[in-house]
Amino acid sequence: MLALGLPFRGVRFSQRGKPARELLFKGQVHHKYPFILGLSQATTERLLAVAFENAGGKIERGVELIGCRNEAKTVLTELRHCSDNSRETVFASWILAADGAHSTARKTLNVDFPGSSFEKPWHLADLPLSTPFEEDLGHVLFLDGNRFIFFIRVIDDITEPPKQNPIWRVISPQENTLEEIADVEPAGAPIWKSAFHISHRINRQFQVGNVFFAGDAAHIHSPIGARGMNLGLEDANIFSRLVTSRQMRRYEDLRKTVDKGVVKKNRTVVANRPWRNSNEAPHMLGAIELARANSAVAPAISENCYRPGSFC
Ligand SMILES: Cc1cc2nc3c(=O)[nH]c(=O)nc-3n(C[C@H](O)[C@H](O)[C@H](O)COP(=O)(O)OP(=O)(O)OC[C@H]3O[C@@H](n4cnc5c(N)ncnc54)[C@H](O)[C@@H]3O)c2cc1C
Repeated sequence: MLALGLPFRGVRFSQRGKPARELLFKGQVHHKYPFILGLSQATTERLLAVAFENAGGKIERGVELIGCRNEAKTVLTELRHCSDNSRETVFASWILAADGAHSTARKTLNVDFPGSSFEKPWHLADLPLSTPFEEDLGHVLFLDGNRFIFFIRVIDDITEPPKQNPIWRVISPQENTLEEIADVEPAGAPIWKSAFHISHRINRQFQVGNVFFAGDAAHIHSPIGARGMNLGLEDANIFSRLVTSRQMRRYEDLRKTVDKGVVKKNRTVVANRPWRNSNEAPHMLGAIELARANSAVAPAISENCYRPGSFC
């Protein structure tokens, strides 16, 4: 991963007419990888798929979970094959539901998902930019009032030919803020645009009988701190160890406290609006806290990490 990605060393905060401030991970994040690793989603998925298959796993695409329930000591899962709409019932001794924020497993088992959501969506665009920005930093530009715009380099998949103008991800709670930035010019049309809602929620239960929850199916929070995918990977890692040692009953205890801590900290950082102006940049230490909180995995992804996968 390290050979295929770009380490981001920190964040620069700027505001017109004021000196820029920087927060660098080195010296703040005491870890052997004191940075956030930008890695293409395509690369991340390829590496995970190869590792899974090398471990004897088989990925079946185009199969939808339409329901599940505990029956005696097993889990009955109902599946739909998207190619011919055929149905299949599979009995498993346990399942790990990692079916994302709108988890079918969570809904079918009526697991409560308490928390809150921001009323207005944030806006995101990946587009080629002509910019003086250093590529190994995230850049937060404060506009007037509470408005800000965030830039981070999107890392190319190494199998793709290098692009003439690098792609940047631009995120802002407001639309069309890019036009207000003097020395940043679009060098082409966006390759992806989206609006996303920010929510902070965590499952009331991480285990119902022999169904366990991981990733966004168990917890969601804002992308600040780049922890969402990493937290899910940690869930899966811990779960696999508990399966091997036949201690799965410990999963909820082990993960819920950690995941809840990250969601809570994330919510505090985002709700306290550390963005108001560059003089308040030190408040972003909260984000650094997030980066290191309970983390056994430093690398994060930056490209396309929110493009929803499709099972059909
Ligand atoms: C703008 C933005 C930036 C982000 N940046 C980062 C970052 O830099 N670093 C980071 O760590 N995290 C980041 N995140 C968070 C990260 O994207 C998510 O936490 C992560 O994708 C969750 O992974 P997951 O596998 O749990 O769920 P998902 O990625 O939602 O995957 C769920 C999968 O299950 C499939 N599925 C759903 N329902 C069914 C069903 N019924 N049957 C079969 N399959 C089903 C879906 O098709 C999908 O493939 C970001 C999020 C946003 C919004």
